[in-house]
Amino acid sequence: MNDSPRIHLGSLLRSSDDAHAEGTLDHLHYEQGGQPQTLTFTEPAAYDIDVNALSGNEMYLQGTFEPTVVMECARCLREVPVPLELTLGTLMRYEPSADAPYLEEAETGEEVLVFGDPNVDLSSYLAETTLLQSPLSVLHDPECKGLCQICGQDLNEGSCEHMAAVPVEEIDDNLGIPEGTTHARQTPFAALRDLKLPED
Ligand SMILES: [Zn+2]
Ligand SMILES: [Zn+2]
Repeated sequence: MNDSPRIHLGSLLRSSDDAHAEGTLDHLHYEQGGQPQTLTFTEPAAYDIDVNALSGNEMYLQGTFEPTVVMECARCLREVPVPLELTLGTLMRYEPSADAPYLEEAETGEEVLVFGDPNVDLSSYLAETTLLQSPLSVLHDPECKGLCQICGQDLNEGSCEHMAAVPVEEIDDNLGIPEGTTHARQTPFAALRDLKLPED
């Protein structure tokens, strides 16, 4: 297990030999807004990367990366392992003056990984790709019942007094966050507002 994934492009830059790197990672260090961050994987994440020379200082990186990230269930907030199978395909450009590798948007809108050290550290590239391609929200189970909006009871583990007061079908409707929508019902009392109270 490597601490930081690197690919050696020295001979590619000299003689256009293709380069290859593979291994597993249990975490990645990267920077965001100048702050050091760590992305942790629940199991060793396999990467397999090839870099082919194009022309001049340009090359093309392609490969696969299979990290399992940890996200929170959108309804009950418990941790959910989310296995990802990422396909990598990115232009690279060698600029001897470049410091740490970074992604730059080309005029075509395509991203280019610019690097200055031929021994390229792929940590931030892999971390950024993982974050961009992670789902926005996940459910630990499609049937997740969520938390009671009043007392916070995890309704997957049993009901609370509040839930006994209204029919179960209505509770589920009101707690459900349809996949792909933003967190429309995040305020604690949003669900209550929608309950149909019996008229007398
Ligand atoms: Zn859940
Ligand atoms: Zn409750």
